[in-house]
Amino acid sequence: MKKNNENYFEMKIKALPENVPFVRSAIATFALPLGPTLDDIQDLKTAVSEAFTNAVEHAYPEKWGDCEVDINVSLDKLTNKISVVIGDHGVGIKNFDKAREPFFSTADNLEEHSGMGFTIMETFMDSLMLENNENKGVKLTMTKTIGNSKSCAQAERSC
Ligand code: ATP
Ligand code: MG
Repeated sequence: MKKNNENYFEMKIKALPENVPFVRSAIATFALPLGPTLDDIQDLKTAVSEAFTNAVEHAYPEKWGDCEVDINVSLDKLTNKISVVIGDHGVGIKNFDKAREPFFSTADNLEEHSGMGFTIMETFMDSLMLENNENKGVKLTMTKTIGNSKSCAQAERSC
């Protein structure tokens, strides 16, 4: 049960690259009541894109295109904090300490993958927590305290 100062949504969405723009815009738009700056919105969109894209590209190597990602987003209006949970049910990460290192990637195509996804998420969000079960998937929780409300109108136009 959520408290009065909280707002939340949950969704299940197919792990497809065409869903990346929808997911990042939906989460950024949901954050608007916290009065984000343009920078907050850009940070959030960038981190969400990296996290969801990882689920699309790495979680389901065998069954690509036929799997789901669970997304839970909550806002705390007292602390002005957003929490984003992105969970897949895929192969999991063998070694997270290694995976989060800058420029580490297991992808075949290193022209498209620089191995900077986790570094970007850690840079743009305040915290990043990973629950990882090999062969049961990755559940990533990211939080960010949203800043000053003066630029809210501009941020609204950018969503
Ligand atoms: P980039 O994000 O720069 O395109 P990348 O996705 O390889 O490249 P990271 O996002 O930092 O880089 O991820 C590092 C590695 O962690 C990936 O190469 C992959 O092996 C593993 N990984 C990340 N997310 C998942 C996931 N949801 N399921 C399984 N493995 C993952
Ligand atoms: Mg990535």
